[in-house]
Amino acid sequence: MIVLAKEIQTAAYLFASILFILSLGGLSSQESAKRGVVYGIVGMIVAIIATVLGQGVAGHVYIIGAIAIASVIGLMLARKVEMTSMPQLVAILHSFVGLAAVLVGFGSYLDPKSHELTGAAHIIHLVEVFAGIFIGAITFTGSIIAWGKLDGKVPSKPWSFKGLQTMNLILLLVCIALGVLFCRAHGTEGMLYLMIMTAIASFIGIVLVMAIGGGDMPVVVSMLNSYSGWAASAAGFMLGNDLLIVTGALVGSSGAILSMHMCHAMNRPFFSVIFASGSGNGSGGEKKAMEGEVTALNHEEVAALLKEAKSVVIVPGYGMAVAKAQYPIYDMVQTLRKAGKNVRFAIHPVAGRLPGHMNVLLAEANVPYDIVLEMDEINDDMPDTDVVMVIGANDVVNPSAQDDPASSIYGMPVIEAWKAEKVIIMKRSMSAGYSGEDNPLFYKPNSEMLYGDAKASVEKLLSYLKA
Ligand code: NDP
Repeated sequence: MIVLAKEIQTAAYLFASILFILSLGGLSSQESAKRGVVYGIVGMIVAIIATVLGQGVAGHVYIIGAIAIASVIGLMLARKVEMTSMPQLVAILHSFVGLAAVLVGFGSYLDPKSHELTGAAHIIHLVEVFAGIFIGAITFTGSIIAWGKLDGKVPSKPWSFKGLQTMNLILLLVCIALGVLFCRAHGTEGMLYLMIMTAIASFIGIVLVMAIGGGDMPVVVSMLNSYSGWAASAAGFMLGNDLLIVTGALVGSSGAILSMHMCHAMNRPFFSVIFASGSGNGSGGEKKAMEGEVTALNHEEVAALLKEAKSVVIVPGYGMAVAKAQYPIYDMVQTLRKAGKNVRFAIHPVAGRLPGHMNVLLAEANVPYDIVLEMDEINDDMPDTDVVMVIGANDVVNPSAQDDPASSIYGMPVIEAWKAEKVIIMKRSMSAGYSGEDNPLFYKPNSEMLYGDAKASVEKLLSYLKA
């Protein structure tokens, strides 16, 4: 097997780092996203080859075998996964990074060579091991709970109790104390402290994510993305691998920036979400009762309303993604526009289950960008809109976010659909949104339900509109 000289490996790492930076840059806009992904793939191939062929690496057969098996599994999963299940996949991948950091930490501590270190180098190594395992364990269990919440295996409602924050703070202090003892320990004692800390950190990961409500999950997913980056970076320090340190720091910092943007978009204090100090701004008191009556229209009646309307705004949500309704929706939009109506889309920053989920789906159906408006750009136009069609969206049009302090989504900016002349809500039932909160919009006097699968309903509407 060829063994690369140290200088060549360093050059390859530098090249891979540049590709990763270009990849992140590419992912910042839809037009350059594909290019960004290609940069990332090439960077990762260069990184793997340079690492596997590096000096001091043994067991190439096992490494290549493991890479081959993992690549096949990854390829199969990626081909099979539905767009709507991407967040679950991302969450479970974050958990792998966390687990890897934990295993690297234990492996590094057990490595006899690490015990040959003395003085400051020894302490620094122990801190790297301790911090790496701590972040890795939180990322591992937190990501598994996030996967469960996104996949419907764990309830999306926040699970919390009085004193949760105090408990988390005490556990954090205990871990710091264990860290001090660990750095001073001799013999097998260190292993014991490490294992106790791993158990505590794993528990913290679980309660941190359990305490967060469905509405705040976007921030949690990007936060776990950030943690997984820091965990990888810590593993890079333990292994003395510069590329892993750089890549981990890139993921860690970009994830943290994304989380801050998400918090800003959702009007959530960054630290209250990270430390699970109560989900969102909800006070947890008595929620407002639903007032009013729910009324429904049939497809023919809704088509008649659309024929009358001059301005129409479509608010898509997760249900549009589930139903894959974007194509008939664009057909309907074209039909209405041909009839001289002003038709636009209103996109909430956290609609769906991925950042930019709705934009991606509408772009896939070739909807022109100029009729796709962000929530802030279109909210002021709502009072002058004749018909708002809420297609498979729920939380992002929930008025409780503005007027019910007890709601877990209170304070989150929402699309003010209820201000329009008429609101048509297209979904299959009266079920709550992802946050688990009921939606008073359905009970408003100017709201009408149109029950059914979003795609089937839009196709039916189209047939009436074209008739
Ligand atoms: P919601 O999940 O709040 O509501 C979606 C609605 O779609 C449901 O009430 C459901 O009602 C309906 N629906 C499901 N399938 C269909 C179908 N086939 N046809 C018609 N309707 C359907 O979605 P929103 O987009 O409004 O809000 C997103 C939520 O997800 C927010 O709480 C957000 O914070 C959270 N989130 C967002 C992430 C992101 O990055 N964007 C990541 C993680 C969470 P019914 O069953 O009655 O049909």
